[in-house]
Amino acid sequence: MSLNQSPVHPVSSMAQALKQYFGYDAFRPGQQQIIQATIANQDVLVIMPTGGGKSLCFQLPSLLETGLTIVVSPLIALMQDQVEALQDNGIGATFLNSTLRSTDVRDRAAQIHKGEIKLLYVAPERLLSDQFLVFLDQIHDRLGIARFAIDEAHCVSEWGHDFRPEYRQLKEIRSRYPDVPCVALTATATDRVRQDIIEQLQLRSPLVHVASFNRQNLYYEVRQKRKNSYNELLQLIRKANGSGIIYCLSRKRVDELTDRLQRDGIAALPYHAGMGDAQRTENQTRFIRDDVQVMVATIAFGMGINKPDVRFVVHYDLPRNLEGYYQESGRAGRDGEPAQCILYYSPGDIKAIEWIIEQKVAPQTGEPLEQEQRIARQQLRQVVGYAESAICRRTVQLSYFGEAFPGNCGNCDNCLYPKPVEDWTIESQKFLSCVARCKERFGMNYVIDVLRGSKDKRILGNGHDRLSTYGIGKDRSTDDWRVLGRSLLQQGLLDETSDGYGILKLNALSWEVMRSQRSVQVALINRSSTLDAQTTSKLRAEAELLFDRLRALRKQIANEQSLPPYQVFGDSSLKLMAQQQPCTLEDFATISGVGSYKLSQYGSRFVEVIRTFCEEQGITPRHSTLSGLPFNEPAVPTRPVLSRTHFITFDLHQTGLTPDEIAEKRNLRLTTVYEHLALLLEAGHAIDLDTIVPPDRQTQMEKAIEAVGGLSLRAIRDRLGEQYDYGEIRLVRAKWRSNA
Ligand code: ADP
Ligand code: ZN
Repeated sequence: MSLNQSPVHPVSSMAQALKQYFGYDAFRPGQQQIIQATIANQDVLVIMPTGGGKSLCFQLPSLLETGLTIVVSPLIALMQDQVEALQDNGIGATFLNSTLRSTDVRDRAAQIHKGEIKLLYVAPERLLSDQFLVFLDQIHDRLGIARFAIDEAHCVSEWGHDFRPEYRQLKEIRSRYPDVPCVALTATATDRVRQDIIEQLQLRSPLVHVASFNRQNLYYEVRQKRKNSYNELLQLIRKANGSGIIYCLSRKRVDELTDRLQRDGIAALPYHAGMGDAQRTENQTRFIRDDVQVMVATIAFGMGINKPDVRFVVHYDLPRNLEGYYQESGRAGRDGEPAQCILYYSPGDIKAIEWIIEQKVAPQTGEPLEQEQRIARQQLRQVVGYAESAICRRTVQLSYFGEAFPGNCGNCDNCLYPKPVEDWTIESQKFLSCVARCKERFGMNYVIDVLRGSKDKRILGNGHDRLSTYGIGKDRSTDDWRVLGRSLLQQGLLDETSDGYGILKLNALSWEVMRSQRSVQVALINRSSTLDAQTTSKLRAEAELLFDRLRALRKQIANEQSLPPYQVFGDSSLKLMAQQQPCTLEDFATISGVGSYKLSQYGSRFVEVIRTFCEEQGITPRHSTLSGLPFNEPAVPTRPVLSRTHFITFDLHQTGLTPDEIAEKRNLRLTTVYEHLALLLEAGHAIDLDTIVPPDRQTQMEKAIEAVGGLSLRAIRDRLGEQYDYGEIRLVRAKWRSNA
């Protein structure tokens, strides 16, 4: 992207800079304290969940100080994405990594030396090269290094899930420039990793900011996987106002589901490790650019994806562990707008995952990796516990990260639609007695088989067909018994060994149940979908219509500039535009997400669409400072954006109807029809101007436009006099512009 970077001047107040450069009105929780400490040159460790707004914590300070901020980031795609986003806000940023040719590197270095760059993104391996260190020394002496920002700082720790040896060398950088402060950022929560980061990066009495891992904007729901789940999914996708990710357990399932969705008219693409690199990258790019709505993927997809406007993440199969589920579902709603995380759960999936776990064997010997298998099984049980839980989903998730959450979140299925519970005391007594009769030496499946009177060889061999509990549970399905068994475990009414075998063991509470001293309630998970009743914040119908148009415009601009649409404006900004309908640039500038640079880049085109929409709908603009003009003039000529309504007008024009007749037929105002025709003309469509405006009048108007310029309709009309009206002036100006 080539932008003319204007030098960035320090702005006195942080809030002012927040609005000017990023277009935001308020800081997210924690950002302000972090930025304050950063500006005071304190070392800082930021631990925030994905989407919490970590980047701003070093980006904003870099704009308020002299010197270059060096950002270390491990993922090239992410690096590029952030740099583009910054440039799109008019901020001097660039990156150096292995994808660049040496001439590019030289150009960028020159830009840095000229002081045009505030943020330089580098991959860790480059940082330590001799050549780069010489360059850094020069920068340090001449411009100054404002700070090192270490993104994905958990990569420095072997205890994290993504250890990168190159990160270990960051220590050297720290000792080479001891006066340069450091800010480290990560979304990984464990204490062990946290300590490791502080140590490895030698942070000096750092401010450690640990944000809550609660993502309030995400709605969590678990649904029972059934025959009609596919139709449910289809409905969910069609209703969703934006893109989504669907995770499946295997490549095969990804391909099948993608196929099926495509046949049902959903723009979906697959993503899994079995595809070629090029194909994967292409699919990912098409998803990020909103060319397709849905990505169907294995968990291979998502690392380093920075798309903030993912509106739903569906786990169509059971995830393998809760940490993974949190991270994957957390790719929804990074922009802070409402998003849904739906998990489809079927006991059959447990078997599939168990099978995968059994495949974990040592490559040389083929011996099972018992330790790993055991951990994996435990993790699986936690996922199942989450899926079957009747309490607040957040409580379960956050407790996994060691965060106590009181429940009643108001944004999960269990809180919004508490499950009916049933008294299963009798069944529990049968189950627990059977565990006792089997001498507490077997796992759940075996116990259930005995209850259901299975003729399995093992059971017959053990003589367990002669137990009094043999076959007393035929009236319930295996799945029912499993639900009960897990519920007993979750409620602490039964124990199991954690050696991977899951041998069921009775405890004191089990005996209380068997002695009828305690009743057992089990939540029924077989319930119908709750989505329809869900109170997602629905835009009013009209705003929704406008939202669609704004989204189309965003997509068009994004295509022109080869940007992902969210870098033009985020969903939250579009939503505000659709609700507030700002019809002047001044009002438009007040929308959250509209900074001064984006205002000048895109403002007029968006305002134009909003004004046209208001005209069509007969809406009086809300905050606008309208003068006597039918429309406020944008500050710069805009490129026309055509939608369906324009083409209807176009068709009618081509059948020979006059603007008056079109207005009457379509029940539109005449000014709107002229506006349509003008836009069509400017966009190069065959509007027969001579049938609308007599040629001699056209000549007069053209002269006036030549004299006063094509910017202001009012100025043109003032020159022409009252006998000319705005509609025809608009048309002639459009012709003049399209010729120019
Ligand atoms: P993280 O790195 O923590 O995952 P990002 O820095 O990518 O999160 O921020 C997530 C999203 O939130 C981005 O779209 C970003 O522009 C937006 N954001 C950050 N700070 C604010 C703020 N103060 N107000 C509104 N949106 C913000
Ligand atoms: Zn809840």
